Amino acid sequence: MEKIIIYSHADCLHKDNGPNHPERKERLEVVINAIQGINDIDIEIKSAPLATLDHVAPVHPEAHLSDIFAMIPTSGLTSVEQEPYADTFLCPNSKDAILRACGAGIAAAECVIQGDARRVFCAVRPPGHHAETTRANGFCFVNNAAVTARYLQDKHKIKKVAIIDFDVHHGNGTQEIFYSDNSVLYGSIHEYPLFPGTGSEVEVGVGNIFNAPISAGTNGQDFLKIFKSKVLDNVDKFQPEIILLSAGFDAHKRDPLANINLESKDYYSLTKDIVDIANRHCQGRIISFLEGGYDLVALAQSVTEHLYGLQDDQLKH
Ligand SMILES: [Zn+2]
Repeated sequence: MEKIIIYSHADCLHKDNGPNHPERKERLEVVINAIQGINDIDIEIKSAPLATLDHVAPVHPEAHLSDIFAMIPTSGLTSVEQEPYADTFLCPNSKDAILRACGAGIAAAECVIQGDARRVFCAVRPPGHHAETTRANGFCFVNNAAVTARYLQDKHKIKKVAIIDFDVHHGNGTQEIFYSDNSVLYGSIHEYPLFPGTGSEVEVGVGNIFNAPISAGTNGQDFLKIFKSKVLDNVDKFQPEIILLSAGFDAHKRDPLANINLESKDYYSLTKDIVDIANRHCQGRIISFLEGGYDLVALAQSVTEHLYGLQDDQLKH
C-alpha cells in the first residue's frame, strides 16, 4: 500500500482573516478531521517545521518578506493590498503560519528525496499560488509550491519540476515566478475570466506555461477532458522528475467563490491521472499543497478523494 505523509501544524489554524472571510481556520479543521477519518490508507501526519528565510529567499527577496513581516499588527488585521483587492490580511499570528505553510513543503521535499514516502500532502494555510515574487495577494504571502520547487533544484539537483494547479483560480504567482524558466513547467486549469484575471492561453512563458482557461458552468467530464489535453499531456511530454500540485478544491459545484461544477469524486479521477504521469516519469513522487476550497463539506470530501487518488494502488472505495 502506498504510504501518504501529511504535513500540517496548529500554527496554520491561527491565521485569522476576520469574520465572514472565506479563507478561515475551519477549512483546515475539516481537512484534518477528514484525514483522521480515513482508516484504509496508510497515512502518517507529521508536524510541519518553520521554513527559514534562506528557504524562501530564492523565490521572494528577503527585503520583500521583511516588509511583509514588518506589517504584521500586534492586534487586529492589516490589509496588504489596497481597495478593491483588500482581502489579504495579516494578523498577529501570521508569521509562523506563513513559515509553517512553506516549511511543510521543505519537509515534504526531504521526505520524498530520502524515500520516506512518494506521496506527501501539505495540509496548510495560508495558501500560496497567488503570491508573486514581490507581491502578496489572493490570501497568499509566500508561494509554498514555488519555494519547494526551488529547494529541490538548489539542494537536491532536481532539474525538471512540474507544478500542476487545479485550483479554480489561476496561479498568477507561480506563473510569474517561473515565466522565463524552462526548468519548471507550470500548468493550470481555471475558470476564466475570474480572479486574478491572468491565465489566458496566450500566456506561454518560454514554452513552459500551459494555461487551460474554462468557462463558468463547466462540468466534471469536460473539465477532466480539457485538463488532460491542455495540461497533463504537456506535463507528460516534459517528463518532470517530480510533480508538485497546487491542490485547490474550489472548482467543486458547491464552492461559493467560483462557478465550475466538479463533484467530489472528480478529484479522485483527476488525481489518478496525475499519479499515472508521476509513476511514468517521477518515480511516483508527488508533493501536493492545499490551496483554495471554501465550502467545508465539499472541501472535506474532495481532499479525501484526492488522497485516495494519491494512494494510487488498487484500493476501491
Ligand atoms: Zn482558488
